[in-house]
Parts: sequence; C-alpha cells; structure tokens
Amino acid sequence: MSESADRLRMPASRRADTRSVPGVGAAVEGAPKAQRDQQRIGNQAAQLLVRSGHVPAEVVLGHRSALGNQAVQRLLQVQRQSPVAPASSWASRRSAVRAARARGDGPEADRLTRDAIAAAATGATYPAGVPRRLPTPGDIRLDPKITADAHAQTRPKDIPAHPTDYWRWLSFTPELISGTEAQVQSVITHELVHVAQFTAIWKSFEQDTSPGKPSWEEFLKPYQLRKRVEGPEELQAHVTSLDFLNRLAPGEQVIALRGVFSSYVSTVAYVPPAGEAVAITAAEVGSKVLAYFAGAGGAVRQRMGAALWWSLIDVGPARATFIAVLRELRPVALAGYADPAVRPVYDELLQAEGIVQKDWR
Ligand SMILES: [Zn+2]
Repeated sequence: MSESADRLRMPASRRADTRSVPGVGAAVEGAPKAQRDQQRIGNQAAQLLVRSGHVPAEVVLGHRSALGNQAVQRLLQVQRQSPVAPASSWASRRSAVRAARARGDGPEADRLTRDAIAAAATGATYPAGVPRRLPTPGDIRLDPKITADAHAQTRPKDIPAHPTDYWRWLSFTPELISGTEAQVQSVITHELVHVAQFTAIWKSFEQDTSPGKPSWEEFLKPYQLRKRVEGPEELQAHVTSLDFLNRLAPGEQVIALRGVFSSYVSTVAYVPPAGEAVAITAAEVGSKVLAYFAGAGGAVRQRMGAALWWSLIDVGPARATFIAVLRELRPVALAGYADPAVRPVYDELLQAEGIVQKDWR
C-alpha cells in the first residue's frame, strides 16, 4: 500500500476513519439513485445469504461499498486464514514469536519478527527501478497501528530523510508473522512496486529546479489522488500477487484476489487526466488474470470468481464499468456466477444495476 492507498487493501472498512459510519462511505453519500437502490437491495441480498448459510463469523466491509448493513458486512467477510503447514523454518520462527509474546517479552517478539521478515525478503521480487538490496533485521520497521489485513505501508513522507534507503519508507504489521512466508514475500513485493512508483516521483521532484518549486508534500498531491491511487497504482502492485498465489493459504488467496479485482475495477473506471501515463492498464492485467484462471485448479477458480463479484459489490462502480468488467473477465465472472447458493444475490445486484444477461454473458 502506498500511504494514501495503504488502507485501501481490503478490508477497507477496518480503517479507523470510516468505522464510525459503517458502510456509509463516499460511495453512498450523494450517490446516484442506482446506488441507493443497490443499498436497499443489499438487505435482501444479505438475507438470502444468511438463509443459504453463507455468512461466516468475522465481519468486514469495504467502506466504498454501496451496500451498507451488517448482514452484508458479514457476507463480504474476509475469511480468517486457515492455518496451513508452513515451511518448517518459518513455523519455528512463528512459534518463537508466539512464545515471546506469551511470556510478555514484546521487544524480543518484535526482534524475532523483524528477523523473519528480513529473511523472507530474499524471496521477494524487485521491480524495475528498485535496486535489489536485502534488508537487515534492523531495516525492518514494524508498526502495530497497521492492521493485520493492511499488511504494510509505503510512506512517502519518510523519503526526503532517506532518499536512497527505501527500506526506511516501509512499515509492516507485526501480524505478518501469523501468515505464510509466501504472503510476506508477496507483501514485500507489493510494497516494492510502490517504492518504484515513489522513486520515480522523487526523481522528478529532485529535478524540479523551478523558483516556485512546491514542498514534497505539495508535489505529491496530484500523484496521490484517490482514484488514481485506488486504480492503476494499486493494480500495478496487486497484480504481483498472482506470482505468489499458489503458495498462499486459501484465506490469503482470497485477500490477495480481492485486492487484484478491486483495483482492477477501479482501473476500468479510471479516466486519467490528459498527459498522465497510467501505471498499468486493465487490459494488460486482464489478460494476465485470464491466463492465470485458465491454468488454475477448480478451488482457485472458484475463489477467483467469488472475489471478482465481491470486488464489484465492494467498489460499487457505475453500470458501464460493471458491464465492462463482467465482459472482460467473463470466464472468471461465470465461475463465480455458477455457485447456485449466491447466484440469487448476484441476480439481485444485476437487476438493481439494470444489467441483463445479454449485456455480459
Ligand atoms: Zn498498495
């Protein structure tokens, strides 16, 4: 996550700034009628899911969703990741951290966590523009304010003090140790994409010699506009998770896929201002997603389908974007739609959006 995007990784509703008005985010206030209708539909849709036994225990909802009630929040839950058998060295690192926490030795638990994350970084992918430099444990910053599901942040405000030491721009949740090592590698890879993005911005800032040169914070603003960050900038980072997906636990796959699809939907909806070079296009990612889907097993295909519909509900795009996404990722959309238990929910949603079968199938 970049700092403005940092909390956009799902579940967005865990953001402190939106928790006070659950489900009533920017997508609802002043929303077009279709979205308000969709919110009402959401109540019925959620009840259908409750009846069909599809409501898991832990609950979160992206604040951007036009659907707002508690039942829908349950429907849109991020499943708790089921423990999988990790590599033994990772398992022993995790046990050591747990043991330290259990005996109240927070500093030792943090030290062991930094060790583990630094070691996992050897398996991360460094994008173009980011010199490969493995972190020492001391380079790893932990921030307990970052929620378990937010994973990590890249903070551009830390760049001026350490322009070449990008590990100082990154902060990780201590909870990362609870997941798989592959997830840590995927999270680091995601953040390194943001490092590449901010490195490019920092270079243009440094090259700006104009007399009225703004502060770094001011200079950053156009790059941090919400739609841009939520769309192509995040998509460029999220798409890297496909390379790690088959090593993630099922619950981690769900979180990763929701990240890919939510940013994909936002990118399809994104209209860049004239002259802006987008970080990545939906078409480029769409073909990667479809290729991955074609080679995936049944369980992963099912998760991809469900995550795509979840993301459409969460982002709540305009009808044209909704249709475009369904058409462009049709095999994935159909895999989700094939689940008879949730199809009535999707049908209600489509009806609320005024989308008929021939629009996308
Ligand atoms: Zn990100």
